[in-house]
Amino acid sequence: MAEEETGKKHCTAVLLAGGRGSRMKSGAAKQFMTLGGKPLLWYSLMAIQRSDIIDDCILVLGGGDEQSGKADSAVRTGREIVRQYNFTKVTAFVQGGSERCWSVENAMSLLRERRLRGGEAERTDYVFIHDSARPFLTGEILSRTYEAVRKYRACVAAMPSKDTVKLADESGFAAETPDRSRVWTIQTPQVFEADLILDAYDMLRREYGQCAHVPVTDDAGVVERFTDVPVKFAEGSYHNIKITTPEDMKIAEVFLESFRFC
Ligand code: C5P
Repeated sequence: MAEEETGKKHCTAVLLAGGRGSRMKSGAAKQFMTLGGKPLLWYSLMAIQRSDIIDDCILVLGGGDEQSGKADSAVRTGREIVRQYNFTKVTAFVQGGSERCWSVENAMSLLRERRLRGGEAERTDYVFIHDSARPFLTGEILSRTYEAVRKYRACVAAMPSKDTVKLADESGFAAETPDRSRVWTIQTPQVFEADLILDAYDMLRREYGQCAHVPVTDDAGVVERFTDVPVKFAEGSYHNIKITTPEDMKIAEVFLESFRFC
């Protein structure tokens, strides 16, 4: 069907594979660790490649380790995975930054350049930011976040918290217990109207430069801080876990047995 008929908007994925994964305590960066015979990064790339919603993908590689020389090898490994598995939706590679937010900002900077160059071919309507450390991205999560962003301009995949959450004081004592029915755990993808997220990150960069101590840990946080657009929660999945420590890899192996991309 033609784009005008469906009203399909142009969606760009920003796939983050720029971290060191130091909490994994493995020699290899975690996005290249093997799960079910494939590198972790392969799973998000495959979900993006198979999606009818995502049109193109910017892959961020090699952040965090600029000093150690590991960054160059991570860039080579990432590019090789794209080539080997023929992930044709990857149209650009971007260098990672020292922190996750600066990795995202490097991708935003590329999108701003494209916007300046103008032209229909360069136009992106929505930006899907996803951590490659979450291998269980599905078409259903992409559909739900796409529906939500079209309606609300900004959304994140999220799930109700199963645990009670408490805020601690400086001495490690319970200071506050939010009502659990209002506590959600936040995942990726985090999805935004392109102009909104480009401008929000522009403001973050102007305020913090490339400094290491930025008081935001996700993209929604940047939008919350610098704009007045509320961020909607869209249903993610309890399987859409982030691989952070070696225990998570064991859980992922169990989840993989029943995982389908749809
Ligand atoms: O370290 P953490 O698990 O929070 O990283 C979340 C995601 O952000 C991962 O997919 C990682 O590759 C990415 N990241 C990045 N650049 C950094 C740090 C993390 O792209 N400097």
